Amino acid sequence: MHAINYEAPKTLKDAVALLAQYGEKARPLCGGTDLIIQLRAGVRRPDHVVDVKKIPELSQISFDLTKGLRLGAAVAAIEIYENADLRQYYPGLTEAAHLIGSNQIQSRASVGGNLCNGSPAADTTPALIALGAKCRVVGPKGERIVAAENFCTAPGRTVLQPGEILVEFQIPAPAAHSSDAYLRFIPRNEMDIAVVGVGTSVTLDLDEERCTDARIALAAVGPTPIFANKASDWLEGKKLDTATIDRAAKLAVEQSSPIDDMRGTAEFRRHLVGVLTKRTLLIAAERAREA
Ligand SMILES: Cc1cc2nc3c(=O)[nH]c(=O)nc-3n(C[C@H](O)[C@H](O)[C@H](O)COP(=O)(O)OP(=O)(O)OC[C@H]3O[C@@H](n4cnc5c(N)ncnc54)[C@H](O)[C@@H]3O)c2cc1C
Repeated sequence: MHAINYEAPKTLKDAVALLAQYGEKARPLCGGTDLIIQLRAGVRRPDHVVDVKKIPELSQISFDLTKGLRLGAAVAAIEIYENADLRQYYPGLTEAAHLIGSNQIQSRASVGGNLCNGSPAADTTPALIALGAKCRVVGPKGERIVAAENFCTAPGRTVLQPGEILVEFQIPAPAAHSSDAYLRFIPRNEMDIAVVGVGTSVTLDLDEERCTDARIALAAVGPTPIFANKASDWLEGKKLDTATIDRAAKLAVEQSSPIDDMRGTAEFRRHLVGVLTKRTLLIAAERAREA
């Protein structure tokens, strides 16, 4: 059996120091719903795990209508969707968190772990990209900010360097008449990985009846989560009528690069990107009208 040294520092400084000391032989641990499975399967074999759940900055949910949201990387899915402010102002993020695994998994699975695991199918990642989330990363060389859409670099890989910790997400304050939505397709009702997921946010000018800002992000249709910037840009300044939404969906399909696998064919996935893009846009727009 491979012995692993477990440490649970209470400060960010101590966690960074430990990770720097152990280098490539260490791995941060949060809820463990990905990492422990990977350890058991022998996919990863660290000599040290550094539990980040006891670090206060990683556990905070700080929301202000003018400053926006600072969401600690170790916040569990259940804490996200049980938070009344987040449900009201970031409903797409809360519905993505609510889709992760089962109740038991949601009480362990963190939003930061969902991103740092680097899965292209992670449910909260498109919701974060749609909201324009920035990731605050701290490591031995200091601090840096990475846009959520630039965080994953390949399946199971991210921009994180050895010793670096994802501390929090910084999410802009919700603009007037803005909202978001997340939908995924799985072959059954729960406990499955997205065949396709789509997260969308829109801001409307109700006087002009136009979309002033939009962001669309896709899951499970490429080696990383995808920010569909062409589809998003297309919507800006336009009335969200059927033709405009259809065109945005087509552009989102063009930006996807799915593969055939046991969960679905590339052709089926492209179809789903179109369907889910339209549906999330309609849901987000409806919510934005009432926001
Ligand atoms: C039964 C089951 C069902 C699941 N269903 C879904 C689902 O429907 N949708 C979905 O998206 N996921 C699903 N998952 C995957 C998993 O629950 C999520 O990816 C979860 O959010 C990971 O968070 P965690 O806190 O458990 O991360 P961990 O397992 O602790 O860590 C995951 C990875 O991120 C790194 N890491 C964690 N936190 C940090 C940090 N702050 N800084 C730097 N690196 C860090 C770790 O080193 C590790 O490599 C499921 C898992 C299981 C077991």
